[in-house]
Formats: sequence, C-alpha cells, structure tokens
Amino acid sequence: MTGRQPDTHITFLGTGTSHGVPMIGCKCAVCRSSDPHNKRSRTSALVSYSGRNILIDISPEFRLQCIENNVQRVDAVLFTHAHADHIFGLDDLRRFNEMQGMSIPCYGSPDTLAVIRKAFEYIFIQTQEGGGKPKIELLPVDGPFTAAGISITPIPVFHGQLPILGYRIGNLAYVTDCSEIPHDSMELLRGLDVLVLGVLRKKAHETHFTLDQGVSVALELSAKLTYFVHMSHSLDHDATNQELPSSIQLAYDGLVVEI
Ligand SMILES: [Zn+2]
Ligand SMILES: [Zn+2]
Ligand SMILES: [Zn+2]
Repeated sequence: MTGRQPDTHITFLGTGTSHGVPMIGCKCAVCRSSDPHNKRSRTSALVSYSGRNILIDISPEFRLQCIENNVQRVDAVLFTHAHADHIFGLDDLRRFNEMQGMSIPCYGSPDTLAVIRKAFEYIFIQTQEGGGKPKIELLPVDGPFTAAGISITPIPVFHGQLPILGYRIGNLAYVTDCSEIPHDSMELLRGLDVLVLGVLRKKAHETHFTLDQGVSVALELSAKLTYFVHMSHSLDHDATNQELPSSIQLAYDGLVVEI
C-alpha cells in the first residue's frame, strides 16, 4: 500500500488461481504478458478497519504479499477452506506474533480447521524450539461471530461437492472458490457495496464459477462494485475487463478498494 489509505478498505494481496499466473512452464500470451495486472499470486485479501487488519486466507506467497503491500498487522485470519493455495503461507504468521506479542485467532469451519491441524501438525505437538512456531488459536465458525472487534457473517457456499465458507463484513462480502451459492446464502449477500467473487476462466469447471456464471451472480446480487479473483492464465486483464460492465471487473494484485 502506498500513500494515505481510506479508513476501511480491502487490499487484494493475490488474485490468481492455485497455479498462479504466470503458470510454471507456460508460454501463453497472458503468462508472457508484460502487463503487471497479469501477474497473479495466489488469492488472498486483507480487510482493514480502523487500523485493524483481518486477513482472508494465507496464500503460499503470503510473505511476499506482506512485503509488497507493507502489511504491518494481522489481527485475525478467516479461512474459506483448506486447499493448499489458501493455507500454505501460515508459517509466516510468526512475524506478526513477534511484532504484536500475541497469538493470532484463526477462524474457519470445523472441517477446515481439522485439515489445518493435520497439515501443520508441528504447530500443535511438542518439538524442539528452533526458529519458533506460529502461535495461533483455531476458532470454529458455526454462525455469525466477532473477530478483531468486527461482526462477521459466514456465507456457506459449495466448491464442487465441498461445503466451504465465504464471509460478509459489513457491506463487503468475499466468496472465492465457489461453484454454487445456495438460495439462503444469496439472501445473505443482498445490499452489498463490494462483492469479491472467485471466477476461474471461460471454460466450464467442476468446482469454480466461469466468468459468465460469475457475471450472472454479480448481476443478480447487484453489489455497487463486484471484483473477480482467483483467475487462471486464460483471462487477460485488460481484454476481459473491456468485455465486462464497469461495475464488474477483474481485481489485480495490490488493488486497494475503499469500502
Ligand atoms: Zn483456490
Ligand atoms: Zn499461461
Ligand atoms: Zn479451493
């Protein structure tokens, strides 16, 4: 983040799908593009509110994203689900433990937290001290809750067959890796200022919305602004945005939007 930031804002730390863009070994036009908007690290965002920061998911590029965006605090973490691209930066929370002198509360569904316990077993068992381990508190989500002093509503959605969570924070909602939003959850997403929605590509996919499906969800919810995240290398930033209505756009790494 550079310059003065509005009091309440979202910073898009990463906007790419699990492979990232450019994808290893790919020679397509988007992967070779010199447009910085086409460089997408794995999807994650930071919601800032009166100096407090809520991190949504912890991508494998978390450390680099923090340096790039000058992230100074993490007061709480919300996990959408436990796929590798959403959790594998977790060890770098250590720096925030050190700087803040506190354990960091991490929220997610009981299933998500169970996978995190397994994937990061070393955190939860006795080992020699070494470089230290992240100090986190895993807090299961089973309805609306308060994190870092802010009220949050979980939004149950489907990622293929897998039930995962989106989150609504005031008039911002964040829903990634989604292929179906049940009716009751659509109702929880009415009246938004900013909707963040995962779309993968134009071609159909079993576990992610296509661009067209994302647009129809965005039009139905009619948030003032919708930003797409979790894009693959098949979507060029400028060319895709030119096809979209101005209230619905692809986000990019480092974008900051006032809420
Ligand atoms: Zn993902
Ligand atoms: Zn490519
Ligand atoms: Zn996923």
